[in-house]
Amino acid sequence: MAKLKIICAPDDRLREISEPVENVDKALQKLMDDMLQAMYGAYGLGLAAIQVGVPKRVVVMDLSGEEEPAAPQYYVNPEITWTSDEQNTFKEGCLSVPENFAEVDRPEKCRVKFLDYNGKAQEIEADGMLATCIQHEVDHLNGILFIDRISKLKRKMILKKLTKAQREELKGHAL
Ligand code: ZN
Repeated sequence: MAKLKIICAPDDRLREISEPVENVDKALQKLMDDMLQAMYGAYGLGLAAIQVGVPKRVVVMDLSGEEEPAAPQYYVNPEITWTSDEQNTFKEGCLSVPENFAEVDRPEKCRVKFLDYNGKAQEIEADGMLATCIQHEVDHLNGILFIDRISKLKRKMILKKLTKAQREELKGHAL
């Protein structure tokens, strides 16, 4: 199985708007399988295809607890059709913004339309952590990161830390 590398901010690719998927075929299922492995390998809860450099509207998620069996979820062309007026605040993180967390306000509930792993049309209503995760991942498909939804000062601080970490990583490779 091909190992996918997760892209970290700041990287222009994370700002791309992903393209809708035309067909849920074998190749797309393989991409979703590989994305899921990359996500589990990094201990993430959700991953959008653009985070591995593929600009397609595809998301994988697994919100099961540590002691629970894996419960992968697949969202192809997810489209949020409704959000509640009530807001919720969660401390969010992101595999593309490693080791940084911040409180983000989002609608508490949402409804999402998507195609599942087999290309079947689905629509669900989500709340709590699931609603937050779906909105976070759909943001990725539109080139938005959770740090865009926090204060400018905090965002600058996080980006500075990430740029420094990347520079150090490059130095490490050069030696
Ligand atoms: Zn993310």
